[in-house]
Amino acid sequence: MNEAESSFPVILSLPDFIPARMLNEFAYCPRLCYLEWAQQEWDDNEWTMDGNFQHRRVDRPSGDLPDADEMEEQAPEAVHARSVMLSAEGCGFIAKMDLIEAEAGAVLPVEYKRGSVPDNPERSWEPERVQLCAQAMILRENGYVCPTGVLYYAQSRQRVEIAITDALAARTLEIARELRCVMQSGETPRPLQDSPKCPGCSLAGICLPDEILHEAAHPNAEAEEDAIRRLYPARDDAAPLYVQDQGAYVGKSNEELVVKLKGTKVADIRFIDLSHVCLYGNVQISTQAIQELLKRSIPLLYFSFGGWFNGICGGMPHKNVELRRRQYRAEYGKESLEIARVLVQNKIQNSRILLRRNSAEGNEDAIEDLRRAEQQAGEAANMESLLGFEGNAARIYFQHFSSMLKPKESDGGLSGFDFTTRNRRPPRDPVNAMLSFAYSLLTKEFAIVLLRVGFDPFMGFYHQPRYGRPALALDMMEPFRPLIADSVVISVINNGVIQSKDFVRSAGAFALKPDARKAFIMTYERRMDSLITHPIFNYRISYRRVLEVQARLLARYLLGELPTPPEFCTR
Ligand code: SF4
Repeated sequence: MNEAESSFPVILSLPDFIPARMLNEFAYCPRLCYLEWAQQEWDDNEWTMDGNFQHRRVDRPSGDLPDADEMEEQAPEAVHARSVMLSAEGCGFIAKMDLIEAEAGAVLPVEYKRGSVPDNPERSWEPERVQLCAQAMILRENGYVCPTGVLYYAQSRQRVEIAITDALAARTLEIARELRCVMQSGETPRPLQDSPKCPGCSLAGICLPDEILHEAAHPNAEAEEDAIRRLYPARDDAAPLYVQDQGAYVGKSNEELVVKLKGTKVADIRFIDLSHVCLYGNVQISTQAIQELLKRSIPLLYFSFGGWFNGICGGMPHKNVELRRRQYRAEYGKESLEIARVLVQNKIQNSRILLRRNSAEGNEDAIEDLRRAEQQAGEAANMESLLGFEGNAARIYFQHFSSMLKPKESDGGLSGFDFTTRNRRPPRDPVNAMLSFAYSLLTKEFAIVLLRVGFDPFMGFYHQPRYGRPALALDMMEPFRPLIADSVVISVINNGVIQSKDFVRSAGAFALKPDARKAFIMTYERRMDSLITHPIFNYRISYRRVLEVQARLLARYLLGELPTPPEFCTR
């Protein structure tokens, strides 16, 4: 263990008790248990939501469970306790039991399950039996007599009685032992291989089983068609809301977010349709609206009127401490340079491909120079030389950027979009104004994704932490600058969506007029929502989803599951 590793131990201490539900998860898939318990990941799918619905009655505590020594005096029908939390030190288990009934002086834990009775000889699945057995063992250790338990299947409304045999108790203890070993190892178990369990797993989009197995075996190599199952939606159902009318007021009305301007409603959007909310400049929002957004984990982002990304308001930070520790540790390790090399190399490659595709002939030398810079970046010996290669590539790329612009002649041709070099703070021409605006949109995109995955977005590997700078978001967006931000700028100019008259100029700085900004955001959103073929996994996926997959793969690299940082190079 090197000095940095010893100052950043990444194995978290195990709680005193194992929840019976975690034994169920571990028996189903050790990785699922690890993701949920150690890394505190969670996501719902239709089955988990249905499960919660089926559980709603038993989740409300009611009825009393008499002490064990009073059981004999109780009439069986008098014992009907719901949502009872009990633990037992001997076996080390804890459980919130859905329902406890009594029968001939003994207690009977009843565990509710969604779905129908399984069509197998046991009329139940092993993970469910193990969970029930753990509950029975807790009850026994607390002095109760508990020879059997019941699995109640809500869909078929059938009870299946399970005998708590010595063999089942031994199997439950064996699973508990394995679980403790895995948790104490600090290593995320490998995904299940080609398992039919994965498509129904609510954590499939977080776990990325096929992608991780592919990347671990063939880092960054293109997969064969249909070899990798995309087990999550290709694009998001929810969309962002941008509010940029100065003086607008955002409030909550029942299940909707309502935007008003001078007292008149101009928009209402259901909360379930919102992915995040962006407020520009002088826009007010009510406490009730903020509370509801926090409750639903919908990020609220604040920008200056000019589009500068000021900050983000979210609920509690992600509880994956293990990932943040690895992220901080990597800052001192070799991973930092490895990640930075990949990001810069991918950025240069994507810039080169954009230039090759969009510019007329005559840029061959520049394209060749970019290819060379790409190679140099991939072999950079340290951060300083990497910065030099990247700076050189950016200079070449932006020198030729205007060759990709083909504004309408009716708009005065290129004269309105004269661009020679990248400048910012403030942008001193229309093209730079749009590039800055697009980069700020991309920064907020990655800030949201990184927080969702569990990273600290302010701790980067290539961009050094600086006051208030979301360095990791800036790192991660490097390969996507040409593919998303620059492409949107080229597209709005070449399609005449934005014209030279759509800018205001003040003190030498250029900015988009409000209507033009709306049009720009719409083009940007279309780009984020557009489906592309993933260059490695070969399935269709939106750019917005790609960003999340990249962040999750980087997390898996830092957690030691993947041998190299993830790449993203367009074909
Ligand atoms: S997707 Fe598959 S491998 Fe991943 S946690 Fe779920 S069941 Fe386990």
